[in-house]
Amino acid sequence: MDATRPLTWQDATITAAVPETPRVRRLTLAVGWDRPFRAGQHVDVRLTAPDGYQAQRSYSIASSPARPGTIDLLIERLDDGEVSGFFADVAEPGDAIELRGPIGGAFVWDPGMGGPLLLVGGGSGVVPLLAMLRHRAEAAPDVPALLLYSARSADEVIVRDELIRRDAWEPGFRLMLALTRAPGGRRVDAGRIAEALAALGSPAHTFVCGGNPFVSAVSDLLVEAGVPARTIRTERFGG
Ligand SMILES: Cc1cc2nc3c(=O)[nH]c(=O)nc-3n(C[C@H](O)[C@H](O)[C@H](O)COP(=O)(O)OP(=O)(O)OC[C@H]3O[C@@H](n4cnc5c(N)ncnc54)[C@H](O)[C@@H]3O)c2cc1C
Repeated sequence: MDATRPLTWQDATITAAVPETPRVRRLTLAVGWDRPFRAGQHVDVRLTAPDGYQAQRSYSIASSPARPGTIDLLIERLDDGEVSGFFADVAEPGDAIELRGPIGGAFVWDPGMGGPLLLVGGGSGVVPLLAMLRHRAEAAPDVPALLLYSARSADEVIVRDELIRRDAWEPGFRLMLALTRAPGGRRVDAGRIAEALAALGSPAHTFVCGGNPFVSAVSDLLVEAGVPARTIRTERFGG
């Protein structure tokens, strides 16, 4: 296995397509690659229309590296999106898609990096953080971790039941939700960051992921709260 080999496009087959929230669908893919992946990495997918037009997008791997031949993607439908609607509404088990990966070397967490681990996700930006949480639970359950997750409403919290179960049962893991459009809801603001830091202690590693405005705002808040910038890693989904 040579992780430095250039990535090539290959066929992957969709084996399951399950709604997770009103806007997000989980696609399970059987992948033929021979590379291990790391929690936090993503894949590129490419669609080709009958007239040859191609569109390519990146999607984070939500599943744990413990299942290397099968990956889960969680894809949110954007109302005016070119590609996300296909995956969130149209793609079905048995479909083959072109995929390239795994990709990404900076926005990754390995158990050997330790913690405490502060994960801050906005919307579908929680996806690579889920891979980290799942990997942590299997490979390094002693590492303290806190997920601060901003979603519009409780309905839009991706894998809500799993996160609530982990919060209840996994020692050392804490879930904090920031529901922006729920009654009395609030954004990730300085107060929320202070609460997270008080609950977790000083993070050794902080991962922030979501749309561009979310990542910029949260990164600024973290630095203002005293988290060293060199310990903060960010992934921007666009927007
Ligand atoms: C490394 C990486 C990993 C990603 N992982 C995921 C993932 O796990 N799940 C997932 O759902 N998406 C993920 N994305 C976003 C994904 O690649 C696409 O950008 C997204 O699905 C929109 O594609 P589209 O063709 O539907 O929209 P487009 O047709 O490309 O864009 C439609 C409109 O939406 C805006 N827009 C594009 N992306 C966003 C965004 N993220 N938020 C708000 N507005 C946006 C565009 O500016 C445009 O106005 C990831 C992006 C990157 C770079």
